[in-house]
Amino acid sequence: MDRFDVVVVGAGVSGLACAAALAAAGTDVLVAEARGRTGGRLLSVPTGNWSEGGRLDLGATWFWPHETLVAGETAQLAIRTFDQHTAGNALFEASDADGAPLVQRIDGNPIDVAAGRFGDGAQSLTDSLAGLLPAGSLRLGTAVSAIRRTGDAVLVRAGTADVAAEQVVVAVPPALAAATIDITPALPEPLLRLARATPTWMADTVKVVARYRRPFWRERGLAGAAVSHAGPLREIHDMSGSGGEPAALFGFAIAATPGSPDPALGESARRQLARLFGPEAGDPLELHVHDWSAEPFTRPPGRDAGAGHHLFGHPAYRQPALDGRLHWAGTETATHHAGHIEGALRAAARAATAVLSRRDLTRTAP
Ligand SMILES: Cc1cc2nc3c(=O)[nH]c(=O)nc-3n(C[C@H](O)[C@H](O)[C@H](O)COP(=O)(O)OP(=O)(O)OC[C@H]3O[C@@H](n4cnc5c(N)ncnc54)[C@H](O)[C@@H]3O)c2cc1C
Repeated sequence: MDRFDVVVVGAGVSGLACAAALAAAGTDVLVAEARGRTGGRLLSVPTGNWSEGGRLDLGATWFWPHETLVAGETAQLAIRTFDQHTAGNALFEASDADGAPLVQRIDGNPIDVAAGRFGDGAQSLTDSLAGLLPAGSLRLGTAVSAIRRTGDAVLVRAGTADVAAEQVVVAVPPALAAATIDITPALPEPLLRLARATPTWMADTVKVVARYRRPFWRERGLAGAAVSHAGPLREIHDMSGSGGEPAALFGFAIAATPGSPDPALGESARRQLARLFGPEAGDPLELHVHDWSAEPFTRPPGRDAGAGHHLFGHPAYRQPALDGRLHWAGTETATHHAGHIEGALRAAARAATAVLSRRDLTRTAP
């Protein structure tokens, strides 16, 4: 059986940042990732015509000022960043008394805030973090189904193999871990209840991305930003790359039936974009409809409560479980910026520190 100092469950930004910190400190680490790719809720896909360059974000898009760990990582990893386009007027869409949509142009842009973007998509962050890991320390397509404390080790069922470790870091949303990973001995009931009740950020969101030949809305003095009460997209933003290339708009919808993507959503989003930004917007070069609620390695099975965000960063997530051998990472466990990439990085740093301090303790124990 393979043995590691630490097994990290999940190769999202939190798991990878934690593993990279542990590897840099000389720890023998394995990252087990269920999907066939790294990144988790960071997902940047090549545009239809790859020769035009640029990737489109179907998961996270932005980071914000004061998010110091994102700033630090992008600088250290030499990841190109640029400012979100905000110039121009915003749009507001309501429904009239008969339910027909009404579009109103707003002077200025009260919708977008100052934010940063990743030059080659948000997933470039996890691509770079994965690149810091020693060869052989990342296993893709390897879902962890069980974690068992035995004697002085933890046995982790990773795909079809058991691997042994001194410690394990669970860097998947807590509700997903509680629903899909069999942990023995069982976690204390209050901790299990907490994990089940902690919502998974954006897990019921559908992101719609439309790519165009050029950011034509900017020529009409529009910012590409809209808020709509007529739907299906509730908010829309310019998601063009640096210098407007690739040109793109994106919008968020809420999954009507979580877990079952709506086949009509793309068409109704296209019609809405045309209502707001003109006929050209209804005819994108490509349209992506990514329903995160149908992703089994993001959204826990059953109904996501939606409420319960006050449980983010609960103090219990800072207490290692399984006699100090199981640590929580993942953005939902962060005390600050939970839900954001910044929160995922903060949780990773906290988990890495906890792992290393336990290793120091056990090494110096008489
Ligand atoms: C549509 C959308 C838009 C967003 N926009 C923004 C934004 O603009 N800015 C921002 O800061 N944040 C945004 N977020 C949130 C941001 O994406 C997350 O905060 C961040 O990616 C979370 O990282 P994580 O590593 O904690 O979790 P995840 O990215 O969920 O990573 C968990 C990983 O664990 C894996 N996994 C799950 N179960 C198992 C298992 N049993 N065994 C092994 N592996 C497993 C998953 O496949 C995944 O790779 C957005 C999210 C979504 C969905």
